[in-house]
Amino acid sequence: MTKEEIIKILASDEPDFLEEVYARAYQVKLKYVGKKVYFRGIIEFSNICRKDCLYCGIRRSNKNLSRFSMPKEEIVETALIAYKAGYGSVLLQSGERADGEFIDFIEDVLKSIKRLTSKELGITLSLGEQSPETYKRWFQAGAHRYLLRIETSNKALYQHIHPDGHDYDIRLNCLKFLKDIGYQVGTGVMIGLPGQTLEDLAEDIFFFQREDIDMIGMGPYIVHKDTPLIDKYKIDSERNFSLGLKMIASVRLQLKDVNIAATTALQALDRTGREKGLKAGANIIMPNITPSEYRDKYQLYEGKPCIKEDALACDDCLKNRLLSVGEEIGYKRWGDSPHFFKRWKFAKR
Ligand code: SAM
Ligand code: SF4
Repeated sequence: MTKEEIIKILASDEPDFLEEVYARAYQVKLKYVGKKVYFRGIIEFSNICRKDCLYCGIRRSNKNLSRFSMPKEEIVETALIAYKAGYGSVLLQSGERADGEFIDFIEDVLKSIKRLTSKELGITLSLGEQSPETYKRWFQAGAHRYLLRIETSNKALYQHIHPDGHDYDIRLNCLKFLKDIGYQVGTGVMIGLPGQTLEDLAEDIFFFQREDIDMIGMGPYIVHKDTPLIDKYKIDSERNFSLGLKMIASVRLQLKDVNIAATTALQALDRTGREKGLKAGANIIMPNITPSEYRDKYQLYEGKPCIKEDALACDDCLKNRLLSVGEEIGYKRWGDSPHFFKRWKFAKR
């Protein structure tokens, strides 16, 4: 699509036109990645962060929450619960730390999960910006996918929401390191950021294409009361939710064979938001399996769903809901991005 065609989708509030766009995106998904939905159980294992992103509820300067870090045994045990429930993969996510103790800790956790699941459980990491050496160590210890959102590909907007200690080019370089090492690489953006235009969002899609990204995790931006962005802007959540669906459909139509997640932020704005995301072209769901005692301390934004539930409390309900809307679930499978295998084969030629 041209930029104008993408903007036409993003700007539309014409139900018939949008139904047709979602139906086309769904057909493209069936053709290029198949009908199965793959689960990545998210374990949000620590809210300690060295960064101060203006939008995020667990940013360093937020003093209104207590900080936690799950012990290794508990992270591994939670991963094993997901494994036994037939999930193909887990996603380990936390605030950003890059000290030696943290790097060793993650390496140790990865090795244990791999050993205790006979290397069967896939592991995705989402632990922010690290050195190439660290990414390499974690890859060798068993992680094979990495998620690092660019947040917005508009450099000026990026700097505006990341005022100090952050650099757009460093983040971009991290994506390159990850690709060179051999990870399946995911990125994404927040949708509906203050100051973000439809043109910016269309450019984000071209960014994913240019950077040859394998997996996309995008979601609506949702405010958090203890962040600096709250006072300055009025956010239209309904608009951001519908933009979220339109972005999923546009990315599917444009990139075709990548994995696209229907993210928790969609569910936060609409109880069936993730199912709607699947119908618009997404093929990955990331159920939160963090033990309940930690969930209220990992509030990136307000209204995060299921904060009182335990590991697989929503599992049956979610599976039934997916089956009832005609989706199939890919149990015990990694569900890797077909795009990665094409890219990797090409790179090795
Ligand atoms: N610290 C790592 C990083 O930033 O890459 C991983 C964890 S971070 C909490 C994961 C993602 O949460 C970020 O990439 C950001 O897009 C998203 N996020 C943070 N605050 C948000 C908000 N207020 N609304 C929607 N998404 C948010
Ligand atoms: Fe830290 Fe990630 Fe939140 Fe930024 S988005 S403050 S790096 S947890």
